[in-house]
Amino acid sequence: SSPIHVVGGGLAGSEAAWQIAGRGIPVVLHEMRPVRGTDAHKGGDFAELVCSNSFRSDDAENNAVGLLHEEMRRAGSLIMASADRHQVPAGGALAVDRDGFAAAVTAALESHPLITIDRGEVAGLPPEDWDSVILATGPLTSPALAEAIRGLTGRDSLAFFDAIAPIVHFETIDMGKAWFQSRYDKTGPGGTGADYVNCPMNREQYEAFVDALLAGDKTEFKAFEGTPYFDGCLPIEVMAERGRETLRHGPMKPVGLTNPHDPTVKSHAIVQLRQDNALGTLYNMVGFQTKLKYAEQVRVFRMIPGLEKAEFARLGGLHRNTYLDSPRLLDPTLRLKAMPRLRFAGQVTGCEGYVESAAVGLLAGRFAAAERTGATPVPPPPTTAFGALLGHITGGHLSVEGEGPRSFQPMNVNFGLFPDIEPPKEPGRKLKGPERGAAKRRAMSARALADLAVWLAGDTSAAAAE
Ligand code: FAD
Repeated sequence: SSPIHVVGGGLAGSEAAWQIAGRGIPVVLHEMRPVRGTDAHKGGDFAELVCSNSFRSDDAENNAVGLLHEEMRRAGSLIMASADRHQVPAGGALAVDRDGFAAAVTAALESHPLITIDRGEVAGLPPEDWDSVILATGPLTSPALAEAIRGLTGRDSLAFFDAIAPIVHFETIDMGKAWFQSRYDKTGPGGTGADYVNCPMNREQYEAFVDALLAGDKTEFKAFEGTPYFDGCLPIEVMAERGRETLRHGPMKPVGLTNPHDPTVKSHAIVQLRQDNALGTLYNMVGFQTKLKYAEQVRVFRMIPGLEKAEFARLGGLHRNTYLDSPRLLDPTLRLKAMPRLRFAGQVTGCEGYVESAAVGLLAGRFAAAERTGATPVPPPPTTAFGALLGHITGGHLSVEGEGPRSFQPMNVNFGLFPDIEPPKEPGRKLKGPERGAAKRRAMSARALADLAVWLAGDTSAAAAE
């Protein structure tokens, strides 16, 4: 059969090519390095890690990314096999020798008889006779290709600059201090008038918070990140630098809200959190995009009344990042609705992280291979880490309070994306707090691996290819 074309030999593209070839289908893998570089990559190997050498937690029972590792191993991942082989000691994390890791991925791809390597930039829309293409060109997609994609999706549907606010696990918010209410009790489409979580501050707390923001340790921008801020996404600490009252008149304005815990006292400032996923397990801090260092974010944001014990599903950040408005643009198997011969994978779809990018590459590869053999690609169950991640990318889009669809933001895999589960009962004991959280994670993890096995067993595309 004619080959499937994979563009970009990063974490996602390498895995996609491997999965396709493993199903007996020829692949052409197009990678522009080392002919043309990016602002972050250094060499020409496939799956180069541009920054840290960590794949994060390897604990499949208690951590969603650890669970994703395990699911990928069970699905025959090249990225995971290479990482396991080049592991370096890192406590409970999976960290790798980056050169050994990338060299192993490169050797496996180069020696596969069904994989042809083409070192060159795809500098525009793929030619029409490429009838099945996976675009996995990452956060630093070359400008010529990005421009061509933008021609298909519209200007606003391909973000180039990423300002993200922290996301909090709802169950760690102290609702004895915070409360649900929308500003002026507004109800928009899908809204109830109580869609936001509000955290109040008195004058003293506000002043201390502004001081902490101003003094906080910030991440310096790399040269390639020297893009000016978009108007709507100034970092919170940059706003604070513009004047001590700026935040109180901006994202932290206290108007239209009444604290039911203390209705007679007027709040000096209020931090709002907006529901971030359909399940209501995650809330993002409205207007709190930031380039404070991670440890500083945790320290400073826990000064907010109600968030003293907050656990963060994702911290804020600001960097150059090319990604699609996937929930609107992609179908459930990652094809561009406007041009279904194009499928997307990796960070450009709006996942975040090495492992997540590779996982979405694995899925895209399987979907494309199934399609090529005439089978219907079946998405993984939403109870698996694969499915939870895919659901974040292709679904779960919320409308809040007449604001239209919330803007789609890249995210790491986390248990907040999984359907809820009741942890098994322990006779004579009621589980509470962290103990209950841990039992829940273990239950989610066990359910995921059981459901994954069923999904993997039903995948007949490998057999069909033989
Ligand atoms: P990439 O791994 O970037 O692969 C894309 C590939 O496509 C590249 O090899 C590129 O050369 C190629 N390419 C681009 N355009 C074309 C074209 N037109 N034609 C042919 N080839 C093309 N995640 C973490 O988990 N930990 C981190 O520490 C981390 N640090 C990051 C630091 C930076 C500066 C950036 C930008 C991202 C970071 N990420 C990190 C996020 C993300 O996980 C990585 O970017 C990850 O590599 C994404 O995988 P990918 O396969 O989608 O893209």
